Amino acid sequence: MSDHDIDPTSPRMAPKPEVTKIDGRELKPSTLMMGYGYDPVLSEGSLKPPIFLTSTFAFPSAADGKRHFEGITGKRPGGADGLVYSRFNAPNQEILEDRLAVWDGAEDALSFSSGMTAICVLMLAYASKGDVIVHSGPLYAASEGFVAKWMSRWGVEYVDFPAGATREEIDAVLARAKDLASQNGGKVCMIYLESPGNPTNALVDVEAVKAARDEALDWDCPIAIDNTFLGPLWQRPLDQGADIVCYSLTKYVGGHSDLVAGSIAGAKKWMDPVRMLRNTMGGICDPNTAWMLLRSLETVELRMNRAGENAAKVCQFLAQHPKVEGLGYLGMIKDARQQDIYDRHCKGAGSTFSLLLKGGEAECFRFLDSLKIAKLAVSLGGTETLASHPASMTHLSVPEGRRAELGISDNLVRISIGIEDPDDLIADFEQALEAV
Ligand SMILES: *Cc1c(COP(=O)(O)O)cnc(C)c1O
Repeated sequence: MSDHDIDPTSPRMAPKPEVTKIDGRELKPSTLMMGYGYDPVLSEGSLKPPIFLTSTFAFPSAADGKRHFEGITGKRPGGADGLVYSRFNAPNQEILEDRLAVWDGAEDALSFSSGMTAICVLMLAYASKGDVIVHSGPLYAASEGFVAKWMSRWGVEYVDFPAGATREEIDAVLARAKDLASQNGGKVCMIYLESPGNPTNALVDVEAVKAARDEALDWDCPIAIDNTFLGPLWQRPLDQGADIVCYSLTKYVGGHSDLVAGSIAGAKKWMDPVRMLRNTMGGICDPNTAWMLLRSLETVELRMNRAGENAAKVCQFLAQHPKVEGLGYLGMIKDARQQDIYDRHCKGAGSTFSLLLKGGEAECFRFLDSLKIAKLAVSLGGTETLASHPASMTHLSVPEGRRAELGISDNLVRISIGIEDPDDLIADFEQALEAV
């Protein structure tokens, strides 16, 4: 948060320096979530940040106003160094962005009104007519739709590759994308990944993608990755060479199924073009939602750890059940290459997985309709356990052939485990499986 509005002559109002280290020891994100980026002195001593319901901010002087606008408009690099107008930024959102950056070890972060706003503004900021986006598959359906149906209307094409692709396969895809881009008079403008893929949990080898990009492309082409399923706790893709990490904060970060928001994080150089477009278009998270996310970030590690432990116990039970054909759970990977990617990239198996029942849609529906604790709803990452049937719900609009290619079969149920008592959850799944 900016401290420009402080009266420096009042000792009572002296802002405290930000503490991120004690005796050279770097403080962990779970500690920083309680105070980082906010000084109570700036807000009447209020321990929690107030919700700043304001659309505009008073300048200390006309010269400050000019300086801020030079930053906003890009006349001076580095952006505004004070608050101006709430479409650009505001206190709750700035604190949120500072804390989100901490989790991913990023220099900068931007908040948005939804995960899809974050992803769409990101792509729009980097793509020009004739450019090609290279993406992994499957993507979240709306992300895939934005690339295929909307970006194409503005002359941006795409080339995709399956999540588990090897270095050689990624090299071949980049070569194809370069050819296509040069035919169209553009460039490969972004490599956009989602890992693990939904609902199969197939992982992308981010290190291989970075090595392939560094060899094939000699211009600044960012690697962006949707980290909604494992972030911020179980995967930090910037450490594997991704440049930009994207989130639907609606899921694990928000964590209570009571808000919709999104974010991106990365080096300032990658954030700046997106910030400029967000300044123009809007799409920033609102102050109430930002405040709720600050509350959520205080418990994100606790919640995700508990959900992860619960999922491990539930999956152990499900894996040995006679009515279960298989599990798409990152704690029980069968494929050696996928296991290798997991070992290099992930710190935990998450709590969202697919359950393959013996049978098809009818068996899945009976199972879903029999659940007593788990709620029948799409979305994931909340405190409560949710179950859904992707083939007939989230992925209904995906053509049948493509669905088969992606492994989204009629006997697949997607489950997001919450923080309930694990034995209660197992009892619920046991009785629902009996009803099948
Ligand atoms: C939910 C989700 C999104 C979209 O986020 P919204 O907040 O609903 O806009 C994007 N990517 C993934 C992987 C998601 O699960």
